[in-house]
Amino acid sequence: MQHPGPAAPERFPARERCADGAQFVAGRPARGTSGRTHTVVDPATGEDVYAYELAGADDVDAAVAAAREAFGTWAGATPGERSDAMHRFAAVVAERAEDFARAESLQCGKPLKLSREFDVPGSIDNIAFFAGAARHLTGQSAGEYSGDHTSCVRREPIGVVGSVAPWNYPLQMAAWKILPAIAAGNTVVLKPAESTPLTSLLLARAATDAGIPDGVVNIVTGTGPEAGEHLVGHPDVAMTSFTGSTAVGRRVAAVAAGTVKRVHLELGGKAPFVVFDDADLDAAVNGAVAGALINTGQDCTAATRAYVQRPLYEAFVERTAALMETVRLGDPFAAGTDLGPLVSHAQRDRVAGFVDRARAHARVVTGGRAPGGELAAGAYYLPTLITGAPQDSEVVQAEIFGPVLVVLPFGTDDEGIALANDTPYGLAASAWSRDVYRTGRAAREIRAGCVWINDHIPIVSEMPHGGYKASGSGKDMSAYSFEEYTQLKHVMSDNTAKARKDWHRTVFGDR
Ligand code: NAD
Repeated sequence: MQHPGPAAPERFPARERCADGAQFVAGRPARGTSGRTHTVVDPATGEDVYAYELAGADDVDAAVAAAREAFGTWAGATPGERSDAMHRFAAVVAERAEDFARAESLQCGKPLKLSREFDVPGSIDNIAFFAGAARHLTGQSAGEYSGDHTSCVRREPIGVVGSVAPWNYPLQMAAWKILPAIAAGNTVVLKPAESTPLTSLLLARAATDAGIPDGVVNIVTGTGPEAGEHLVGHPDVAMTSFTGSTAVGRRVAAVAAGTVKRVHLELGGKAPFVVFDDADLDAAVNGAVAGALINTGQDCTAATRAYVQRPLYEAFVERTAALMETVRLGDPFAAGTDLGPLVSHAQRDRVAGFVDRARAHARVVTGGRAPGGELAAGAYYLPTLITGAPQDSEVVQAEIFGPVLVVLPFGTDDEGIALANDTPYGLAASAWSRDVYRTGRAAREIRAGCVWINDHIPIVSEMPHGGYKASGSGKDMSAYSFEEYTQLKHVMSDNTAKARKDWHRTVFGDR
């Protein structure tokens, strides 16, 4: 195990770099005016690394006003102009990649290799993708559908988008929310999770430095019930885009209904990992450990329920537990660390609670405790594998959001697919087999927004990400998400030049 070490200055100098506050409004950093402060804690050490003033309703109002003011000019820019600015934005983030990686690892406890090789390049790719997509909104061709008129469709931006993001991938979630919205000509007010504001602030700063006009990207960092709800319910916010838990998503949808705005919800997940008896066992074991432990299991698509067909079940459990035990927990900034802490001590205790309650009816094969020793001050939890849990039990049904994999056996293919579908969630799933008919069936019949075949986790900017069932509605990334940040207008022009149109007879006589 690696030593967590002291919070050395080389981690990321958050106090210095975000000295002017954790709000970003109209192109400038600002302090929150709620009268309350919040402290960002390094989950690897438990040390305070940045204290800031939380946003209140007035700060949200100021950010929404700035976004409204910027909307006319930004929406009126040509797609080419928006695209150019966004390409520069991608370049500025790429120049500052190491800063982004360190800030993300500091506030989340992610191993630096994950921030450097996944979060940051993924976000840069996302900005570059939407910079290109800005010039490629497509629509139906104009036509004479009534015979007497020419119809065409205008795809227009919606206005100010109020976005709310979670703490597990703060940079990527900010990118997924901001980029499709501004590519389409909207302006954005983003509320990051209060525990992880640093990379959203760096992102807004990079947008401004790249020449994206002031007010197009604004950040308000406050609590969910105060700043979040005020943003969601704001009458000048035309669309709410939320990523977070299903419970909060329900509340967000209810608040947004008060002003009848468009709502985009990316919610929780409980991804099944279905291993058929002809699968490559090596590949499935490696895939299960990587898919369950990425980001310390705090991933909405993480593999959480492995269903393994009986002939492979015993070997899968034994080998997966053995591989989990080789994963090196340690300080996120130390070379050689595979797995960091959870995002907070509260999240670690929540995960431990799920595992402890499961002991009454299930077996903890490996893990199931905090490591202690040199890592005791951090929010660490050992990779955990559970067997024997009933299908209707909490660890099988609820989102744990930690490094915990439940493994259960199944008999027939029908049973495996039925079990995979048997939770309220439907965000992602994977199927493991060498038989294309089996994997094809799994792809068709598992009700989830993404089904991987013989892999679990990879994402690409070109493809949509979003849930079925209680995992939400709407898509992030891809041209599909771009379209969600636009509204369609039908423009219908009379071609006859007649004062009395034929259809008027239905209103004032048929002479
Ligand atoms: P959360 O729901 O607790 O919080 C998400 C955000 O909502 C935070 O910014 C929070 O401050 C804010 N919030 C809380 N209460 C609010 C309210 N009443 N009104 C408005 N905003 C409010 O989620 P979390 O714990 O930060 O993140 C983990 C969750 O996010 C998991 O359920 C995970 O599956 C989900 N997630 C989903 C996706 C996806 O793409 N579907 C991606 C990442 C995370």
